[in-house]
Amino acid sequence: MSATAENTFDIVILGGGSGGYACALRAAELGLSVALVEKGKLGGTCLHMGCIPTKALLHAAEVADTAREGQQFGVKTTFESVDMSGVNAYKDGVVARLYKGLQGLVKSKSIEYVEGEGRLVAKNVIEVAGRQLVGKNIVLATGSYAKSLPGLDIAGRIMTSDQVLFLNYVPSRVVVLGGGVIGVEFASVFKSFGSEVTIIEALPRLVAAEDEAVSKQLERSFRKRKINFKTNVKFSGVTQSGDTVSVSLESGETIEADLLLVAVGRGPVSAGLGYEEAGVTVDRGFVLADERCQTNVDGIYAVGDIVPGLQLAHRGFAQGIFVAEQIAGLNPPVIDEMGIPRVTYCDPEIASIGYTEKQAKEKFGEIEAYEYSLGGNGKSQILQTQGFVKLVRQKDGPVVGVHMIGARMGEQVGEAQLIYNWEALPADVAQLIHAHPTQNEALGEAHLALAGKPLHAHG
Ligand SMILES: Cc1cc2nc3c(=O)[nH]c(=O)nc-3n(C[C@H](O)[C@H](O)[C@H](O)COP(=O)(O)OP(=O)(O)OC[C@H]3O[C@@H](n4cnc5c(N)ncnc54)[C@H](O)[C@@H]3O)c2cc1C
Repeated sequence: MSATAENTFDIVILGGGSGGYACALRAAELGLSVALVEKGKLGGTCLHMGCIPTKALLHAAEVADTAREGQQFGVKTTFESVDMSGVNAYKDGVVARLYKGLQGLVKSKSIEYVEGEGRLVAKNVIEVAGRQLVGKNIVLATGSYAKSLPGLDIAGRIMTSDQVLFLNYVPSRVVVLGGGVIGVEFASVFKSFGSEVTIIEALPRLVAAEDEAVSKQLERSFRKRKINFKTNVKFSGVTQSGDTVSVSLESGETIEADLLLVAVGRGPVSAGLGYEEAGVTVDRGFVLADERCQTNVDGIYAVGDIVPGLQLAHRGFAQGIFVAEQIAGLNPPVIDEMGIPRVTYCDPEIASIGYTEKQAKEKFGEIEAYEYSLGGNGKSQILQTQGFVKLVRQKDGPVVGVHMIGARMGEQVGEAQLIYNWEALPADVAQLIHAHPTQNEALGEAHLALAGKPLHAHG
């Protein structure tokens, strides 16, 4: 195939979400020529349908709870109602500002931004609306979509996060199918907005990927918040009539609601895009890539949600940057998947890094775990939140897991990820000073205790 100079690039990237645009920005910084192909909106799921809009909803939810709970702090407040048009205007405004900023950023670099649906038509060619973009390297970054269950059609009052993000009313009763990250975040929002919420989860516990102690604490907190949940129970079907959905469980139980939110995970966007025809190994739609994000086809890389692993925006950013640097010959260090911080922004928040206690036992054999209750942390008591910081260390070795739950604990994940990624010993962290009174102190206190010199720790 003859390629003209204006259609030939060092890197052609398919998909302008977190993984794709991060790769494009870093590649441009490194002086590589780059084309970025996007069929929807630059920024992808995270900016338009994921991280940003959901966290805006969660913030509005927190404001509603603050209005409700003023009395607890001696402040006379009353909660009147949630005006969804106002909430959506706020949320959409946040997204719009960030979108504009990102568009400006991409425009300011020498990136060829190509709008349209692309397809891999040869191992080094992406075709978009008849235009063939030839890449010395190709990066697949087409992301993920909200899955459903076989036979469960998304229509009417049966929605995924994609539709729920644009609701213009607060449903009075919601069933959330799936107690993973997206399910518990929306359950938390709806409860704060005033809905009666029931979560259905087939696994034995909510947020099953987290340390078991975290799931237990979340379940305790959700019970306190009167968020209903059923674990170990399977969904068997749903019918819609008028304004109601009727959700049936294999246990024989039926739950009536105004809305069923299907939050059963996200599948890879790869079908029909020519990946397999080009020889790329795909497993149930996921593109397989090695630790250097390289697929089995020389010169084709894959980043973000289409690669099996944590489906998180910052993983996509990191992989995108990694691939640009790899192509530029910088030989970047490989990304440790366990070193990627994870935050679930429900109330209470969950933040973790590294191995759970169970995983650490399997991997390292002898370990030590310690749980520091937020009951001993001044700032957490001021906020009236409960929870803990749990540390897992290799026996006589570094901290290999940090698991936190409590209001605002997501903000603590920054130090936790340094501790894990720098392979700190409890004694290394114990000698660092944590400001008082902050929730951050709880991390410091947990390390003091594990280093054998507890301060405000009972038991
Ligand atoms: C409700 C929800 C909440 C979330 N909250 C968080 C959170 O708080 N924190 C966090 O880290 N992560 C969160 N995530 C996950 C995060 O959004 C994803 O991990 C991230 O967006 C993945 O980035 P990506 O680049 O792999 O894919 P995407 O962001 O999905 O981007 C892929 C892009 O490729 C484009 N594309 C696909 N096919 C083609 C084609 N053929 N031609 C051209 N373009 C194409 C798509 O239009 C899309 O823009 C959330 C996700 C959801 C759904």
